[in-house]
Amino acid sequence: MKEPLKKIPGIVLGCLLIGTATSADMVLTNAQIYTVDDSQPWAEAVAIENGRFEYVGNADGVRAFVDSDTVEYDLQGMFVLPGLVDSHTHPGLVARSVDYVELPWTPETKKEMFDALVAYADENPDKEFIVGGRWPTGLFGEEGPNRHELDAVLPDRPVILTDTSGHAQWLNTKALEVLGIDRNTPDPIPGLSYLYRDADGEPTGWIKERAISAQLAAAGIGDQVSADSLAGFLEYLSALGVTVVFDAGNSEEGYKAAAELDRDNRMPLRYEGSYRIEVEDQFSGAVQELKRLRKTYGGKRLRFNTIKIMFDGVSEIRTSAVLEPFLGEEDYRGRTVVDAPRLSNFILELHDEQIDLHLHTVGDAAIRTALDAVEIARAELGGQPDIRITFCHLEIIDEADFDRFKKLNIFSNFSPQWHGGHIQGAQLTLGQARYDRMFTVQPLLDRDVSVAFSSDITNAGKWRTDRASPYFGMQVGHTRLEPEFGVKATIRPPENERLSVEDMIRGYTLNGAAQLGLDNELGSIEVGKVADLVVLDRNLFEVLPSQIKSTRPTAVLMEGKLISGSLP
Ligand SMILES: [Zn+2]
Repeated sequence: MKEPLKKIPGIVLGCLLIGTATSADMVLTNAQIYTVDDSQPWAEAVAIENGRFEYVGNADGVRAFVDSDTVEYDLQGMFVLPGLVDSHTHPGLVARSVDYVELPWTPETKKEMFDALVAYADENPDKEFIVGGRWPTGLFGEEGPNRHELDAVLPDRPVILTDTSGHAQWLNTKALEVLGIDRNTPDPIPGLSYLYRDADGEPTGWIKERAISAQLAAAGIGDQVSADSLAGFLEYLSALGVTVVFDAGNSEEGYKAAAELDRDNRMPLRYEGSYRIEVEDQFSGAVQELKRLRKTYGGKRLRFNTIKIMFDGVSEIRTSAVLEPFLGEEDYRGRTVVDAPRLSNFILELHDEQIDLHLHTVGDAAIRTALDAVEIARAELGGQPDIRITFCHLEIIDEADFDRFKKLNIFSNFSPQWHGGHIQGAQLTLGQARYDRMFTVQPLLDRDVSVAFSSDITNAGKWRTDRASPYFGMQVGHTRLEPEFGVKATIRPPENERLSVEDMIRGYTLNGAAQLGLDNELGSIEVGKVADLVVLDRNLFEVLPSQIKSTRPTAVLMEGKLISGSLP
């Protein structure tokens, strides 16, 4: 595939006289540098000039780049990685939820959850709407949660709570009333994005896949993102060593806040935005919308080059698209937002426009339909579409489809913080056997498919943002043990899916950059690339697996400049 060179704004190309030593601005020596460059995986010294690596190698070699103006740091054996890439997360959704109610993630009983809810309501008497989450889908049966259960604890104030998957909401009767939702309210996508109803057609208060987005927007709920709240999360990621983030779906308000940060030189990392498609009607205007976002908000560190499609839902609430029926169903298998021919037409349009595609694909049928669409587009073009096509989440991949990822040049993206079994509920809809073969990454790695890792964080809260740490993701991807389960944690099957530390690091660096078309510039420590790097307080190859998540940078460098921490 042709690699269109995408220049990173704000970087002046330094003089790259490879082979001719020129004095460097900065030299780091005596380090254990894991470069993620296959031709030279380890190095002990780097020289940085004009924001780029001028030399990567050993202590002797770097001397040629030192003169009286060069600042030299002895890293005393510290471990160094390239700057990290979080290639699928939701800074806007995190920012808007900073003052939402935070329910216990794994309550033993509903009472524990209701107590937290009532306490929050009492502490916030002025809040018109009580918004927040997350309630575990697994705590409810097939009929889901019911508005009357919430009415029993909070009858007079509207309550809107999101579930642990982020794909369902639970409203009390007051909220339905205030938002004007009743038996006559239409379902945006029957079978995918809809109001769950009782036998008489009355909404029960269980809402799937953003079916009431329009009503919430009209009431002004969920879109308040301030530049400061957005900066909080981005600075958190930046201090962890993340220098590139991909936003897999944000509101207009979220991008407005991002643009404000960028304009004011407060954007701490490179921010790749996207336009998100949720319903079929959006397909025809999506390219225009992406261009509008680019024109209105694009800037020095804020770019828009990707369209994201919510292609199916999630298995926990039976909205994913699966090859075999959901548990207990005759033949209900969920659905995708459009079929393969429609998606393939859209891929051709993106090919013409040079806009990348990011697809939310959870179920095996969604994955197969999307692969079919890429195949149809290839046949039409007589070759690979000249864009990057990424499938994310990839919870259940049918064995027969592994080979097609390589053949069709699909980029894959997983969020390993889920790989220890953190979200429960899919056992009840998929059955244990299917649940036990979720999140299979190794067959893709074995086939040399590009595998990137990401945090996919959608709401705030200390406990939650810690899950946004790439080191948390690396630990769970490597162990398949959920840290929040403590000593009760067991390895989430399949056991042979405990991925190597090398693969975890590559997925958070070079392969994340590749997904975003930035691997010519970023993602590894190589001569000529932009000098983003992170100095860590431990060597990820040497610590106990249970200590990986506590890793913290002692210094983060972006474009050769120290942006947080300190150098010895
Ligand atoms: Zn996401």
